[in-house]
Parts: sequence; C-alpha cells; structure tokens
Amino acid sequence: MKKRVEVPLEDRWNVEALYPDQNAWEKALTTFSSQPHQGLKWPDLQAFQGTFDQGVENVGNALRLMLKIDRDLSKLYTYAHLRHDEDIANPEFKKNYEQILSLAHAFAEESAWIQPELMALPDMLLEEYLASPLLSDYHFYLKKMLRMKNHTLSPDNEKLLALSGQALQTSHKTFSALNDADFKFGVIVDKGEEKPLSHATYGLYIRDQDRSLREHAFKKYHHHYDSYENTFCELLSGQIHNHLFQSRARHFSSCLEAALFPKNIDTSVYHALIQAVHEKISVLHRYMELRKRILQLDTLHLWDVYVPLTSSADIRMSYSEAENVIIASVAPLGSEYQEFLKKGLLEQRWVDRYENESKRSGGYSSGCYDSMPYILMNYKSLLRDVFTLAHEAGHSMHSLYSRKHQPYQYSDYPIFLAEVASTFNEDLLTRFLIDRCQDPHEKIFLLNQKIEDIRGTLFRQTMFAEFELLIHQFVEQGTPLTPQLLKHEYRRLNQTYFGPAVFMDKEIEIEWARIPHFYYNFYVFQYATGISAALALSEKVMKGGSQDREAYLSFLKGGSSKYPIEMLKMAGVDMTSSAPVKSAIQTFDRLLSELEQLLDLAIEHK
Ligand SMILES: [Zn+2]
Repeated sequence: MKKRVEVPLEDRWNVEALYPDQNAWEKALTTFSSQPHQGLKWPDLQAFQGTFDQGVENVGNALRLMLKIDRDLSKLYTYAHLRHDEDIANPEFKKNYEQILSLAHAFAEESAWIQPELMALPDMLLEEYLASPLLSDYHFYLKKMLRMKNHTLSPDNEKLLALSGQALQTSHKTFSALNDADFKFGVIVDKGEEKPLSHATYGLYIRDQDRSLREHAFKKYHHHYDSYENTFCELLSGQIHNHLFQSRARHFSSCLEAALFPKNIDTSVYHALIQAVHEKISVLHRYMELRKRILQLDTLHLWDVYVPLTSSADIRMSYSEAENVIIASVAPLGSEYQEFLKKGLLEQRWVDRYENESKRSGGYSSGCYDSMPYILMNYKSLLRDVFTLAHEAGHSMHSLYSRKHQPYQYSDYPIFLAEVASTFNEDLLTRFLIDRCQDPHEKIFLLNQKIEDIRGTLFRQTMFAEFELLIHQFVEQGTPLTPQLLKHEYRRLNQTYFGPAVFMDKEIEIEWARIPHFYYNFYVFQYATGISAALALSEKVMKGGSQDREAYLSFLKGGSSKYPIEMLKMAGVDMTSSAPVKSAIQTFDRLLSELEQLLDLAIEHK
C-alpha cells in the first residue's frame, strides 16, 4: 500500500485551497487566538456577559462576534481534521488536530453563557428584541435557541440535572462495554471447520451462500445474548428510565414528545410512519415469499432472509468510470447541478480517492462554510464503493447549495434532513444503472441490492422504532420490563413484519438485546423517514415537471433556515402525512415486481 507522500496529486483532495501549507495554517491559528486576557481566549465575547438586558444591540453584537469566531474556528478545524484523517499516524497532524479540538472545547466553554442568559430575559423584553430589525438576521436562529425556554428549569434545578448527567449514562456505557469489548463469541464449527464469530464476521456469515454456516452463526450469536437476558433487560430498562426522568423533569407529556420537541418534529410524524408501514406491510411478505421460492426452501428460516438472491459476481467499476456514471445520473436535477458536481469531481479535487497507509477508513463528506466540500473515500472498485461515492457526493452538493444560498448561521442542515440528499442521489444512480443494464444477471444483482437497502432502512428501522415506542410506553404506564415481556413483544413484531412465509425461530426473541440504537432515544425512525422522503422526492422529480425539480433544489439551498418538516414541505413532501412513506413503499413494490419477473425468467431458462 502507498505511503501518503507517494499518493499522486490528482488522487488527493485539495486541502491547499484552504491553506497553502502547514505554515499558513499555523500562522492563521496564531492570529485567531492572539489576544488572550485573564485566562480567556476571547475576552471580547466575554465582555457582553451580563449586558443583554441593557439593549438589543448588545445581543446583536454578541451573536455576530460569536458566529464570526465559530466560522473562523471551523475553517481551521476543517484543515486540521482533513490532514489528520489522510494520515492518522503523522505526529504533526495529530498534534495540530488535538490543538484545534482543545480550542473548540475552550470556545464552547467561553460561549456557554449566551443561551441561558437569553432564556433568562423577561418574556416581554425578549419579544421586543425579536421584533427588532437589529436582530432580523438571527430571528429564526434565536427562536430555535429559545425553543426549550418553557422546558428549562430554574438555575438551581438545571444545575441538579446537569450533576446527574454522568451517572445517568451508566446503562448505555455498560451496554457498549459489554457488547463492544467484553463479549467473546468464540468459534462456530461448520462442516468440521472452526470459524471465528464476532460482530463483523456475523454480518458476513448471515449473508453467505452456505446455509449451514448461516444457521450455526445465527444460533450461536443469539444464544450468547440469551444467556445474558436479565443483564440486557436491566440495562435497557435503566436507559428508558433515564429518558422518563428527563421527560418528566422537563414537563413533557411523554418520552417521545421530549425527544422530538427540540427539533420541532410533531409526534404525528412518528405515528404516521408506523401506520403507513403497517398498511402496506403485505409487500414485505411478498418479498419473503419470493425468497422462499427462489431459494427453493420448504421452510424459510430467519437465517435465510439476508442471503443475496443471486450468486453472480459483483459489478466492478474503475474510479473514473464511477465519476462518469455518477455525473450522468444527476442529469434529472438540471444542468447547473450537474455542472457543479462535474467541476467538483473532475477539476476542483473534492475527493481523496484511494486507501493509503494510515488513512482513515470508510467514507464521509466534510468541509466548512469557507471551503469546497471534501469527500473521503477508500475506493476499491466494488459496486458498493460507487454507491458510497454517489451518497457522499449527494451530501456534498447539499452542503454546497446551502452554503452558497444561506448566511453562516443557517448553512448547516439538521440530522433529520441529512440523509435525504445522499439517499436521493443513490436512487438516481440506481435508476440510471438499471435503465442501462443489458445483462440480466447484473440487473438482478442491482435490483436485489436496492430492495435489500430499502428493506433494511425503511422496514427494519420502522420495526425498531415501533419496539422503541412500545417499551417506552410500558415504562411510562408503570409496567416493569422483564425478559419475557421484551421477548414476547419482539417476537410478535417480527412475525407482523416478516409475515407468514418466514418461520419464527426462537432465537429471534432476544435480538433486541444486541441493538445499540435502542439506547439512542428515538433516533432510528429518522433512517426510515429519511429514505422515505428521498424516494418520494426522487419519484416526484423523475415523473414531474420543472417545478418539482425547482422545489427540490430550493430544499437543497435552504440549509437550516426553516424547521426540518417545513423544509421538506417546501421540497414537496409532507412528513406529517403517511403519503411519502407509502410512495417509498410503492417504489419497493415496483422494484420487487421487476425482480420477480427477471428471476422467474432466469428459472425458466435453466
Ligand atoms: Zn450519509
């Protein structure tokens, strides 16, 4: 593998566009925090503390300064973190990165007084300030900041809550320690051969064409969790009691409301998702029946539901082929969009393309207000890599448009919206590749991958969301969580989602014990709403006229200048209704019918 210094320029991202070299960055860093005073790095900002009740201009000036520091800091940070990730073993990069992290921490501390001080202003005065033209640039920004005002307690009580914070993390931390570090699954013996079992190998074995390997892996993995059923039940119960405590302390009517309120997402969005999936669940049952038929099994077990329906080889593409198909696939978004992306990939060097020694693994999109988007890849020519690049490019284009069209304070998009643009572009790529595919085996491969993707992100995450809601409701009603209750409910949900074609093996009852997301406080539903919004929007843009495309582009340009649900309404989908989820399931249905036809044809030919 290449060392970092051996990587040719065209394969590297253009960090020099941020700062020409290390020296320039260090110089900028020195200027940035050059006038510390009495232990403070930004005494100018601190000077506003205690002055907010003395005039709206103090609030405006403090916000302007705070955002300016934040913006400069994020530019310095971006450079340090990109350099760090391209060569994690480089001691100089590591030192710089740690330096900037500690500076960011100091800034968070020195600006922490701003929000509570704003919240402490009398309502009348706050109203008056919000109406002032001096704050018009920050109006929505302040409204978001003040959203929790009615759920904020007296300073004494807030202090007490903060003091409990660390102790309340115990359940989640213990789960992670047990699951990620202490657990050893040993080996499985398959056809006389010993194979190591871990989280990573389980993910491979359960998709392996060797059926007995799948069965052994499934059983051994879940038996291990089963022997700790009381421990996992107590941990999960502890976490949910934590959510309940926070929710009641802050006067919310439920844990769900407490989790969604800060983002201004109505609980109806959550319920609409579950309801829509329930109404259309028969399409998932149909997929399971197809699996049973194609795999030619008398009984479709739970270890048979992930294996690919085709054993044909992966589709491979060189990096430059990938660039070209991705650029071609975004044509439905118009020539401006396509040109920006083309320029970014082919000329501006957004992407750090391949693996090198000590480079960070995986892929992501990054950057800041004053930079181009940057994409980290570890491209290896598999179809999965092509989709990763399309996905990250989707994030990057969303960032590019938001930064271009919004002031700094509205240029980031919130988590609820984050995966829409990336998933949208993956869908454009799927459509593009399927349309042009001549080889039926390749087409089956593509369809199968896309169907699995939607199943994992839409159906499975909704099932998780439903389980999560259910167990919170039990605790809210005072019903104690026991392993028996959790197993019973988890089995029932699996039966509902998988349908009659799948045999409910007993081991599935304990699966909840190994899912980290149940500790995240109503997080997973966003995977399902994200893919639903993306698929519904891509269908609209592909079938609709230029006004549908413009609506979608205005969403990309919107950043965080509206609440997420409003932003998606502007794009063309109303997530408080079940329509977008149903539209996404319709896409699943359409792809499934195509796959059915192709597979039946393939069988006839045999
Ligand atoms: Zn993403």
